[in-house]
Amino acid sequence: MPNPLPLVFDAPRRALPPRHFADLTDAERASAVSDLGLPAFRGKQLANQYFGRLIADPQQMTDLPAAVRDQVGAALFPPLLEPAREIECDRGETRKVLWRANDKTTFESVLMRYPDRNTVCISSQAGCGMACPFCATGQGGLKRNLSTAEILEQVRFAAAELRNRDGGRLSNIVFMGMGEPLANYNRVVAAVKRIIAPAPNGFGISARSVTVSTVGLAPAIRKLADEKLNVTLALSLHTPDDELRDTLVPVNTRWKVDEVLDAARYYADVTGRRVSIEYALIRDVNDQPWRADLLGKKLHGKLGPLVHVNLIPLNPTPGSEWDASPKPVEREFVRRVRERGVSCTVRDTRGREIAAACGQLAAQG
Ligand code: SF4
Repeated sequence: MPNPLPLVFDAPRRALPPRHFADLTDAERASAVSDLGLPAFRGKQLANQYFGRLIADPQQMTDLPAAVRDQVGAALFPPLLEPAREIECDRGETRKVLWRANDKTTFESVLMRYPDRNTVCISSQAGCGMACPFCATGQGGLKRNLSTAEILEQVRFAAAELRNRDGGRLSNIVFMGMGEPLANYNRVVAAVKRIIAPAPNGFGISARSVTVSTVGLAPAIRKLADEKLNVTLALSLHTPDDELRDTLVPVNTRWKVDEVLDAARYYADVTGRRVSIEYALIRDVNDQPWRADLLGKKLHGKLGPLVHVNLIPLNPTPGSEWDASPKPVEREFVRRVRERGVSCTVRDTRGREIAAACGQLAAQG
């Protein structure tokens, strides 16, 4: 299997959007408010409107004097995203939005409603530079990093959508949309800090309910562990052997399976959190019984009980040579991984009919 694209760790130098309130730390917010000549308590009010009431238009902030709303809007709340396209499936329980940013860049998020939780899957980059050959996003390359505010706006829209529809609450956030979150490290970490900060300085979502995924940027995994944010780490492993992983997940040519699993172990040790291993099961590519045995053996050896395997039936992209494994093969794979003492389940494939594998909506849009 040829590597279709070179790996891109640094985003092309495309300008990020204008500064937004959600980009700022608490201290930066205080000084931005003071620069506008407003008293300090207005900073708290704005945070409460944005993170608590989910309002980003100062004209709707009724506790803000009408005379300053235009000024605050122009300085701190430039509109960042508009929905370019929306698709629903699962009787409206899954909703995918293709966002268009100010510079016409597009990326997506998916809101999934379950009986016991509401999860939004968000993007951290427009496109992706990791070049995984089975992934639609990877084929288009990296357009640019998203700003912290663009990441947080996806969360705010999802939370507002749930609340406005029937008073629902956003409970889980997964960074599994477009992009490699750890390749946009500073902005993703800033966004996570505001997602988990209690109101009025953040959305107040439990760190345990936030999942950051990665294809295995080992030094960044260790750095994330040291942030002590205690979010769930999801490592997209997809195969336990370097030979295949070098082509399936090209970043493996830089950090090998053992090195990445050592970093994952470090993450588990520092945070006390079980690491989630993502494994897209692809027919006749990575679904052989011997690979299930090797996966179970390696994970048990490196992570012991601090790991869980999520098998993902591949969602084939139109015209692609890649296909999902047959169900009996999938069942045997699960059995063998479990036999090695590693917990393993098959992930629910919500949104298949709206092309919810990463990047497909944008690729078609
Ligand atoms: S699978 Fe994930 S990391 Fe790989 S190219 Fe697609 S979006 Fe990027």
